[in-house]
Amino acid sequence: MFTHSIRWRLQLWLAFLLVCVLSGFGLTVYQLQRITQLNQLDEALKRRVAALNLTVRGGPMMEFFRRSDTDKGPGPRDFPSGGFNSGSRERPYGPPHGPGFMPGEKREVRLSPETAALFSGSQPGAFYFSVWSRDSNLLARAAGGPTNVSLPPGMGRDTSLHAGIRGKNREAYQFTELGDCILVGRSLIPDWDAESRLAWMLLAAGGGVLALGLSGGWLLTTRAIRPVEEISAAASRISAGNLSERITTSEPNNELGRLAGILNNTFSRLETVFNQQKQFTADAAHELRTPIAVLISEAQVMLSRERTPSEYKESLETCLDTAQQLRRLTDSLLELARTESNQFDSDRSRVDVSEVARDCVERLKPLAAERNVVLKTELNPGEVIINSDRLVQILINLLSNGIHYNKPGGEVLVKTVNETGKISIIVQDTGIGIPEEDLPRIFDRFYRADKSRSRAEGRAGLGLAICKAIVEAEGGELSVESKLNVGTTFKVLFPGAAPRARNIQVAP
Ligand code: ADP
Repeated sequence: MFTHSIRWRLQLWLAFLLVCVLSGFGLTVYQLQRITQLNQLDEALKRRVAALNLTVRGGPMMEFFRRSDTDKGPGPRDFPSGGFNSGSRERPYGPPHGPGFMPGEKREVRLSPETAALFSGSQPGAFYFSVWSRDSNLLARAAGGPTNVSLPPGMGRDTSLHAGIRGKNREAYQFTELGDCILVGRSLIPDWDAESRLAWMLLAAGGGVLALGLSGGWLLTTRAIRPVEEISAAASRISAGNLSERITTSEPNNELGRLAGILNNTFSRLETVFNQQKQFTADAAHELRTPIAVLISEAQVMLSRERTPSEYKESLETCLDTAQQLRRLTDSLLELARTESNQFDSDRSRVDVSEVARDCVERLKPLAAERNVVLKTELNPGEVIINSDRLVQILINLLSNGIHYNKPGGEVLVKTVNETGKISIIVQDTGIGIPEEDLPRIFDRFYRADKSRSRAEGRAGLGLAICKAIVEAEGGELSVESKLNVGTTFKVLFPGAAPRARNIQVAP
């Protein structure tokens, strides 16, 4: 479904925002234009009402005539839209206001050329007017104006200007102080045409901006999403089994570039772990195969013909040795698996490393004596929080290595140092040493620097790997320094336990 795609979702949001902004902008422009247009029209109507008002009141632009009784002209006077005949021979009578006019008296309105010019022009854009006397007689009206204009209600109530829409026209009317009514109007059709033209223009411009914005947005999201697609493509290639595959990115410094870098590092680590795991499985199979092959061939040889009891005994002893070697190997493998998956008992307590070291040295004295190696100690007290069995395991491994890979008459020195809140356990021997090229790998599983000696003694190359896993699980560090034919030093560093709280006795 396309709505699941980030690109489409961004595009939809962008379209929504653009439509909101553009419609808001368009409506504001349209409304402002309408209001301005209406205001201008109202101003024009107002000007015209004022001009007519002056005329009706007898201002400079007015000419009022009292018709003689013999004057049988038409009722209201129609003015041609082109203006009014200022050259009339009729004689001005004087200002209409004041007591000069009597109710029911016949009056005639004549416009000055300036006022008539305000009502010039052709329909429908031209202004029209109507003037009623206070006794509701239509005195005058524009020639081209609509004929259905009626006297507005509210005669004589107030003299303020009123404006409003009637049908398709905008009209303004005012009652004069004399009670006459002046109405000026104009058709709204030209304004509506202009408004609809503006609306179409705004729609077209808005549509153009929307199309432009959406295409720009599409290009930008495509560019922004491309690294994500590269990442997912590379990840799927990797999950298909190609572990050496990496994400290539053209912009390594932006957020996605940095994410690609982090993923590449993770993939590298995964590849390393995966390869180590493969190597481990292969090594474990290889290590197990040798004793199993010994057991099978021993049994086959024994069964090939009748043997003497001593031959059977000798063969059984070989089988027992080999089975014990197998058990040591499987125990070590199990131990390593448990340590690495952090499955050992979290039975930690405050342990004095000097005491544990002294105990381990005592336990290994017979082996040292057998190998003609001298065990020495320099033990300073220092406490760590650790599982004591695990600490014993580390020390026994390091000490037995120091004895095994030593020379006759050599020494193994165990030191414990308590310094700046850290506890160090140092196992230093004067043995055969480790070649420099082997040093980086001696903590690897099944790695043996001295292969012939290790194998001959049934050692699997797992001891140091187990030590390192335990030390790291207990929050410490294990390091090694060695010089060929001079000796090897292993150093285990643990954070020291917090000092014990002292009992403070308060004097009574
Ligand atoms: P192993 O069971 O073979 O001793 P380890 O993991 O304990 O396995 O040691 C790995 C290898 O490191 C050994 O095979 C040996 O070659 C080398 N090694 C370990 N300790 C010492 C040491 N004290 N002196 C010299 N070589 C050592």
